Amino acid sequence: MTDIVDASTRSRMMSGIRAKNTKPEILIRSLLHRNGFRFRLHVNNLPGKPDIVLTRYHAVIFVHGCFWHGHECPLFKWPGTRPDFWREKIGRNRTNDHKAREALLVAGWRVGIVWECALRGAGKNIDSVAQRLSEWLRNNAQLLEVVG
Ligand SMILES: [Zn+2]
Repeated sequence: MTDIVDASTRSRMMSGIRAKNTKPEILIRSLLHRNGFRFRLHVNNLPGKPDIVLTRYHAVIFVHGCFWHGHECPLFKWPGTRPDFWREKIGRNRTNDHKAREALLVAGWRVGIVWECALRGAGKNIDSVAQRLSEWLRNNAQLLEVVG
């Protein structure tokens, strides 16, 4: 079985340090920027510290790594070691994600979640992700989830 992550990502995962400014996130930012959207980053005073905040559209966007956020998709695989540690950690991340999303919706924010698997791997259509985000930002839907 081949690893889905490179060596440095793997060592960061194993050390339990969560990445900021991950590649999928940078990709989403540049897609938004190219489509004329302006935004703020890592807003600490909102639930869940959303990666991207578009005040004008009353929208926040999370770019979720499938490993860290326990996505049920082909990119997710339980590490072979320290099963209890990872189950606890990823379980907690999922619980926090859920709470943050509910709190944001209750506060009137619109919440977009782009999963890493929508962006990574063969045959992924990045432009269609950009288009879905653009359309969502301009309509009034409360929730958008983009998966691979
Ligand atoms: Zn995924």
